[in-house]
Amino acid sequence: MKKVYKAHILYTKERNRFEVLENGYIAVDSDGCVKGVAADLASLVADASKRRTSPASDASERRELDPDDTEIIDLGDRLLIPAMNDLHVHAPQYRNQGIAMDLELLPWLQNYTFPEEMKYADTEYAERMYRRFVRDLWRFGTMRSCVFATIHTESTRILMRLFREAGMGALVGKVGMNRNCPEGLSESVKQMVQGYESLIAEFKEQDGLVRPIITPRFIPSCTPEMLHACGELAARYQLPVQSHLSENKDEIAQVQRLEPESTCYGDAYDRYGLFGQTPTVMAHCVFTEGEELELIKRHGVMVAHCPTSNLNVTTGIAPIRQFLDEGLRVGFGSDISGGHDLSIFQIMVYAIQMSKLHYQRNHARAFLTLSEAFWMATKSAGSFFGQVGSFEPGYEFDALVIDDRDLNHDNYSLLERLERFIYIGDDRQIEKRFCRGKEIGAPKL
Ligand SMILES: [Zn+2]
Repeated sequence: MKKVYKAHILYTKERNRFEVLENGYIAVDSDGCVKGVAADLASLVADASKRRTSPASDASERRELDPDDTEIIDLGDRLLIPAMNDLHVHAPQYRNQGIAMDLELLPWLQNYTFPEEMKYADTEYAERMYRRFVRDLWRFGTMRSCVFATIHTESTRILMRLFREAGMGALVGKVGMNRNCPEGLSESVKQMVQGYESLIAEFKEQDGLVRPIITPRFIPSCTPEMLHACGELAARYQLPVQSHLSENKDEIAQVQRLEPESTCYGDAYDRYGLFGQTPTVMAHCVFTEGEELELIKRHGVMVAHCPTSNLNVTTGIAPIRQFLDEGLRVGFGSDISGGHDLSIFQIMVYAIQMSKLHYQRNHARAFLTLSEAFWMATKSAGSFFGQVGSFEPGYEFDALVIDDRDLNHDNYSLLERLERFIYIGDDRQIEKRFCRGKEIGAPKL
């Protein structure tokens, strides 16, 4: 035990309720993992001592439990909560955040998204924009993310180095695309594989905070050869996979034409080893049902729900309640720049509101509660990165310290304070951020 934080601790072990410890304690070991969490210091020490009787414990661990070797940090009246996880975001679209919101998907891609992504052939431009992007993820308390970069290997490397320099966790994808896209955003299968291998060589530690993630943009922009090569890379290097799934009906029809043997969109990925053979996250799943839902469930594929993007691009309302009832893994994505807001706290609010629209149409499916949304943003999404997103012993300590003095003017309960921060707060109340036990300062611009 190296550090003990005292604060009002709130987290969600289970999706239906918050754990609330008023003036509670949380012990964090030198490896960055939570050692124990308790309502008072005496039970924390007792709890940690019980743990040391496990076979893995040794003399050095006993020494760490020595009260003389423990720093107690009193955070006073502040809230201590798990940090946020963003399961789907396009870093090179950051400049386009909040513009072209009146366009439909196709003109939006052709006139805004693709021209912007082409600029990332220029590594100086990439560094300038990516610094801003990483800094703003930090501002909003997102300590882990699954990120799409562009096809450009060197710009992608810059983004990965920026995450590493910041000390924040990220799975970063060099994007694979070679059909139905402008020439400047297409590369050969061979170039794609070589680019990945050079990134893998630099970021190869399995427990590293920053790692590559295999990223075919989506089926319509990749030839069968490219999809096949992506599946092979994932298997050979045991790397996770991310892409888009069932976002809109035209896209689903297009996939059916391109992959006529597939029984559903998800099956088209599955045929190339890109659907749960290694940890996989798929964004949107607005129209997922039947066989595709079963396939997601069977393969443990993570769904990245992107409510702001689904609203802005007018795709539809994903059946999140049904996904939860069926036991699917679900987290949130900001999906910049289809989505306009980088704050996962705001994404929680949109997800709840969107589920209320769904509920108005179909009362058989209850809308999402705050604890469910919080659980999705923390423990559920965090599971894509390992033991992340909770304060249970063994979890990596990814945390935010919230100073809500300016919002807490009338003796609200701790849960009401958290709810108010989520609904009406912003980065100004986030006082400290931790990733894997380390306090993370503002990344340099
Ligand atoms: Zn996307």
